[in-house]
Amino acid sequence: MKISRPHRLNPLIMITVIIAVILAAGVVWWLLKFQTAAPKKAPDPQVSSEPQTVVSPQPSFDKKLYSTIDPTSLWVIVNKQHPLTPIDFTPADIITGLDGYAYSQRIDTYLRALFKKAETDGIAISLTSAFRPFSGQQTLYRNYAAQYGQATADTISARAGYSEHQTGLTVDISGSSQPTCNFNPCFVDTAEGKWLALNAREFGFIVRYTAGNEDITGYNPEAWHLRYVGTELASILAKEKIDTLEEFFNVKGGKVYK
Ligand SMILES: [Zn+2]
Repeated sequence: MKISRPHRLNPLIMITVIIAVILAAGVVWWLLKFQTAAPKKAPDPQVSSEPQTVVSPQPSFDKKLYSTIDPTSLWVIVNKQHPLTPIDFTPADIITGLDGYAYSQRIDTYLRALFKKAETDGIAISLTSAFRPFSGQQTLYRNYAAQYGQATADTISARAGYSEHQTGLTVDISGSSQPTCNFNPCFVDTAEGKWLALNAREFGFIVRYTAGNEDITGYNPEAWHLRYVGTELASILAKEKIDTLEEFFNVKGGKVYK
């Protein structure tokens, strides 16, 4: 006959189990704490399959900040499809500036700084044209047309009302190293032409008519023709490798007059 014994747990086993549970809980707590406190390891860009994008700290560029139509705007686009409005527009802020040339007061500081930097770098440049009023452009264009015919004149000069020089924001630069290249295509390869292509943007100027963009700007390359657009726009154009205002602002250009 089996004698049933009261169902009792051995106190020693009970104490052992309690200690084991406490220890286990401690280990779990420690593991959780360690996981939370440990710094998260950043994904290694070398092995990540995700494309790495560079986040620019700069705020996005506001293309609508200034008008491209208003003739007083720093970003006004003047080309064969977009004459100045009114066509005989005259800027109100024309001053007699560097070397006695007339241009917009807004570019004076930047133009002088550009010339100072050139001097520092041992580059001898001079101003050879700046603001041209409607009547002056009319005379210039008519002279070219009389000399070469209208078709050729249209590739080398703007008709009155269609010239950036009428905004007061544009200048033509000559160099002293190869005088025969002044106002000629070979200016682009002179020391001065190369220097301007690299340095003008720092002062808010762009080379407005560049090689390969004749069908957009409507003009043959003119490495000497600088247009002031401000340092912000000049630097974003360089950064995005965009040569023309027409492309950047999605504005129609071309060789054909409106
Ligand atoms: Zn020019």
